[in-house]
Amino acid sequence: MTQNEKEAMALAVITAGKRMLESSLTVETWGNISVRSETGEICITPSGMSYQEIEPSDLVFLDPEGNVIEGSRIPSIETQMHVRIYQNRPDARAILHTHPVESSVFGVLRKPIPVITDEIAQTIGGEISVAEYALPGSDALAENAVAALGEKNACLLANHGAVCVGKDLAACFKAATVLETGAEIYQKALAVDGCEPVELKADDVKAMYDFAQNRYGQR
Ligand SMILES: [Zn+2]
Repeated sequence: MTQNEKEAMALAVITAGKRMLESSLTVETWGNISVRSETGEICITPSGMSYQEIEPSDLVFLDPEGNVIEGSRIPSIETQMHVRIYQNRPDARAILHTHPVESSVFGVLRKPIPVITDEIAQTIGGEISVAEYALPGSDALAENAVAALGEKNACLLANHGAVCVGKDLAACFKAATVLETGAEIYQKALAVDGCEPVELKADDVKAMYDFAQNRYGQR
């Protein structure tokens, strides 16, 4: 991890914190954010600090096992969750833990959001599962989040927000936005009397996800 890379990681996390707050994906100091370097070091938000006030020196750097290697602040309470997700998802280079409104409805109901839109298929890659309940900051919550995520890019935590992973923070925000709009659409579809939302077929979901991840856009 070079000095340049460290500064870029810190800037990305700080910018994402402000964006998460401004886009109403969280309130107050809830939620947390991290990015991982090519060599495995993790840069994570400090615990309980205002996103508007976090400076580069407030960020905490961890080794791949979660030991602090730089920074004087106490790292996020959900550090273990970030570390365990990175250990299980070599493809993930960023994690965004949000406390959003629309998708949290399903975390509270403990009801997964099926793949009901093409965007969910392309961006998240499958049903948005709800991790079993465990106390914030616990090892159990970390394990439950890993299990609910699987190879997908988002999951809900029972009664406690959402987790999005991606190749960078832009990908995490895309997943968070798709999750939030998908949840809103699902609520509205469920509210229509006498009708049931139609879930997309697994083969179509797989084909769309593969296309979106590997072949979509400009060459
Ligand atoms: Zn949280």
